[in-house]
Amino acid sequence: MSVRQIREPRAMQRTGLGWKREGKVVGLVPTMGYLHEGHLSLLHWARERCDILVLSIFVNPTQFGPAEDLDNYPSDLARDMALAQECGVDVLFAPRTDAMYNPDHGTWVTVPDLTRHLCGSSRPIHFRGVATVVCKLFNLVQPSFSVFGEKDWQQLAVIRKMVRELDMPVRVEGRPIVREADGLAMSSRNVYMTPEERSAAPHIQKGLGLLENLVRSGERDPKVLREAVLAYYAEHLPMGRLDYLELVDPWRIEPVTRIGAEVLAAVAMHMGASRLIDNRLIVLGS
Ligand code: AMP
Repeated sequence: MSVRQIREPRAMQRTGLGWKREGKVVGLVPTMGYLHEGHLSLLHWARERCDILVLSIFVNPTQFGPAEDLDNYPSDLARDMALAQECGVDVLFAPRTDAMYNPDHGTWVTVPDLTRHLCGSSRPIHFRGVATVVCKLFNLVQPSFSVFGEKDWQQLAVIRKMVRELDMPVRVEGRPIVREADGLAMSSRNVYMTPEERSAAPHIQKGLGLLENLVRSGERDPKVLREAVLAYYAEHLPMGRLDYLELVDPWRIEPVTRIGAEVLAAVAMHMGASRLIDNRLIVLGS
């Protein structure tokens, strides 16, 4: 079976509503394309749990700030189609930007409580764009469940809260971070890096590993932990420009003043033209 491509939002919605009437279990994996193993892991997981698997590819302009990489975002629809086929995708929904947003678009979903820190602080309109487009995708595809990666931990938290508080009839599933052999979290943006940046980039997550070791050996002061990782980055990633390194409550996404039973260490780092994010959930007693 080849992948059916739908580009028109209205056609997608008619199809989605039809599936709903027939009682089909529909799984949706929203992406911005340029697929890698991280995306494929979500597709494989969803494939085993639904009757109809939908992959959406949409580089959503409303989640990019003016100085960000919207215009250079990597894309290769033919390659994505071939990968989608291998993963058993039934429908690829790839709408055009002007079909998703009228020039006078003015309705937004915001989740302020979870977006004061981490990416919400350095990318002020980002999560408004994400929540709005995911809401639109849910309305168009009408999925039973939708799968997101924990690499974008804050995004997952925002979507879960949106779904819960706006009573959206969609189950939200989170899946673990898929990494390259050397530990770098997979990202479509990894291709922007020079070979030197790419070979240093695994230190981003090694710094988080160091932090976890310190926590497990008894350090409970976030300031001390942060300083240790910053020193590690200064030594091993001199070309990196830190956006943030924060220790937050994993569910409220608020900085912690003392390490408790669970903490999320989250980092965003500019490496040349790429802005890379990573995180590590540390659960004490596990
Ligand atoms: P993106 O195309 O970057 O917007 O990502 C689409 C979905 O794939 C999001 O739910 C991401 O969290 C997820 N994703 C991206 N990279 C990874 C990864 N390395 N491991 C697991 N999921 C990922």
